[in-house]
Amino acid sequence: MLARNFKNKVFFKKNEALGFSPARAERCLKTVSRTIAPLVDSLLSIIFPCTCRLCHKIVGDSAFGVVCEGCWNKIKAIEDPFCSVCGYPFVSKCVEPGALCGSCRHQLFAFDFARSYSSFSDPLKEIIHQFKYCGHLSLARPLGRHLQAVYHSFPAALRSDVIIPVPLHKARERERGFNQAAELAKQLSGLTRIPFQPGWFVRTRPTEVQAGLSRRQRRMNLKGAFQVSRRAVLANRDILLLDDVFTTGATLNECATILKRSGCRRVNVLTIARVSRD
Ligand SMILES: [Zn+2]
Ligand SMILES: [Zn+2]
Repeated sequence: MLARNFKNKVFFKKNEALGFSPARAERCLKTVSRTIAPLVDSLLSIIFPCTCRLCHKIVGDSAFGVVCEGCWNKIKAIEDPFCSVCGYPFVSKCVEPGALCGSCRHQLFAFDFARSYSSFSDPLKEIIHQFKYCGHLSLARPLGRHLQAVYHSFPAALRSDVIIPVPLHKARERERGFNQAAELAKQLSGLTRIPFQPGWFVRTRPTEVQAGLSRRQRRMNLKGAFQVSRRAVLANRDILLLDDVFTTGATLNECATILKRSGCRRVNVLTIARVSRD
């Protein structure tokens, strides 16, 4: 054992002398794998062409994940007019600039600003289903690019210091194998260089599905479900809270309330899709 330790030390010292420390070697390996991964993806997609999970046509470019470019192009981004705070799209086109939706007029949300890429309707609804419930993680990359486009459309209002995904309870994450919000946050962090801190905010107990619950029941269901971790540094920080779908806003609102109580200056919300209230 002693002899092995001694040999390892000599090995590392020799490599360090040659400019190859284990940390540097690891960094090199990571850079090489980051460079090679897209090439391997492209090669594999030529040998084994993937079919679109929505329309069954061949997916020409692996950058789109398991959905073809044609299906992605059918998604319509949310356009003006929308609520100036939470981004809820108005049905009527004759709306004053800066208009607020009913929830924002009554100051029901604890977050400061929210935007979503598109409405929660097909084909985006099916893409999110494929990503979340069928485990097609290749969709995180193109979804992340859409989040980046929304982020850059509102540079001043969405400007944030840290990205925090809405956490899943550990048991749910084990069952699914991943947290969809954290996968999206990771992609957005890579594209915007905003640090991503999934461990700063945790779900301490599982919650029931919110669908079908009244506003009061939703509040009770979420009460005490989230907690800021002890290592989080939130004081005076602007947070970008990330999730896949903005449904009623109850979960995002509960998260924002706790983050604000922990000292955050501002909580901005970014989601892929927004559910219509009608
Ligand atoms: Zn398709
Ligand atoms: Zn609003």
